Amino acid sequence: MLKNISVEEASEILLNEPVNIQSIELPILESLDYVLAEDIISNLNMPPFDRSPLDGYAYKSEDTINASKDSPVTLEVIDSIQAGHVSQKEIKSGQAIRIMTGAKIPKGADVIIKYEDTEFTDKEVKIFEYLKPQSNIVKMGEDMRAGELVLRKEMNIGPAEIGIMASLGKSHVKVYSKPIIAVLATGDELVSIDGDLSEGKIRNSNSFTIAAQVKRLGANPVILGFVKDNVDDLKRELEMAIKRADMIITTGGASAGDADITKEAFQSIGSKILFWRVKMKPGSPIIAAKHDEKFLFGLSGNPAASYISFEKFVRPVILRLMGKTKLKFMEVDSILEDDFTKISSQDRYVRAFTYKKEGKYYTSLPDKHSSGVLSSLVGRNSLFCVPGGTGPYKKGEHIKVELINHPEEEE
Ligand code: AMP
Ligand code: MG
Repeated sequence: MLKNISVEEASEILLNEPVNIQSIELPILESLDYVLAEDIISNLNMPPFDRSPLDGYAYKSEDTINASKDSPVTLEVIDSIQAGHVSQKEIKSGQAIRIMTGAKIPKGADVIIKYEDTEFTDKEVKIFEYLKPQSNIVKMGEDMRAGELVLRKEMNIGPAEIGIMASLGKSHVKVYSKPIIAVLATGDELVSIDGDLSEGKIRNSNSFTIAAQVKRLGANPVILGFVKDNVDDLKRELEMAIKRADMIITTGGASAGDADITKEAFQSIGSKILFWRVKMKPGSPIIAAKHDEKFLFGLSGNPAASYISFEKFVRPVILRLMGKTKLKFMEVDSILEDDFTKISSQDRYVRAFTYKKEGKYYTSLPDKHSSGVLSSLVGRNSLFCVPGGTGPYKKGEHIKVELINHPEEEE
């Protein structure tokens, strides 16, 4: 078993472990917020014909070369077309067809003018200006071309993507299944969200924080409550959870104290420990294990530590289970707005708030950094990455920051 390894080593080990990715086929509306598991190539030109973007008149541009306010050109109106209908007539010189938005451009026309710019009766239309050929004509394929890759595997499916599939006549789509992530807390001190806080007790907040982190990635969390610091109880819960979940995340009992039972419990159900403890702050107590093809993570009970080690180690694995290959946070060069005086030999990930102003990023830090303090994570969107052995840092220095709430991962 690997112990006390670096953040890079731990990430590398997890990345090299195979994952079991499942895909399913869904009706397109149900695919909202899933990850696309197939490339989608357009099977048609969209629009499939040249069409009018407005209500007006179609005619030959050359007929109106000399049209002006004082000397309009009068054209004979020979037909009227609504969207969804086509005219059987071909426009000849001196003629026009009344046309509505979305209708196919009639034969012989090369320009559309909006009706507000004309004077018209049922029989005639007066044009007061010259519009160049192709004015106000939406060309076939303007939106999508036949053969074009319009949606790429790995994209998140949103309303526009669903609309595209509908335009292409695709009623069902292949998506990656959402992994089920079981979340289990351990600790004799824990009571439930609606429980009484008798002396020495705290509420189980970690299960909710972690389930929310899981949910934000688009996976399905299942909160399994909490168990006492007892190997047998934890073992029993793990045995049940491993049957229904694709991954188990526990919090608490991951260090080396008397009540730190997680590693033993993972092993007791036949899991192989990949590593235990990572050289970082906060979040050094972490156990990563594999049970057949399923991952188990034992995170620290300290709320900020479990939050940050989830983001660093668990998130990439969940993203892989969801079919994603872009796993890294967007990393930016930022200007520090506060002094950071702590020095440690281990890598540190300091919760931070980062914003962009006039092309530059700026990062402010909270007052509290302890791994047990959750409140200083409120409103934070980034991690200030402090390599082990560096610091102190002064206000105004350039630093490296990972944007943890950024919607799109970047390489
Ligand atoms: P542990 O990792 O079990 O040593 O716990 C470290 C700290 O985190 C202790 O102060 C625990 O009381 C606290 N803690 C453990 N589990 C939870 C939880 N589920 N929710 C909130 N705090 C917790
Ligand atoms: Mg504990």
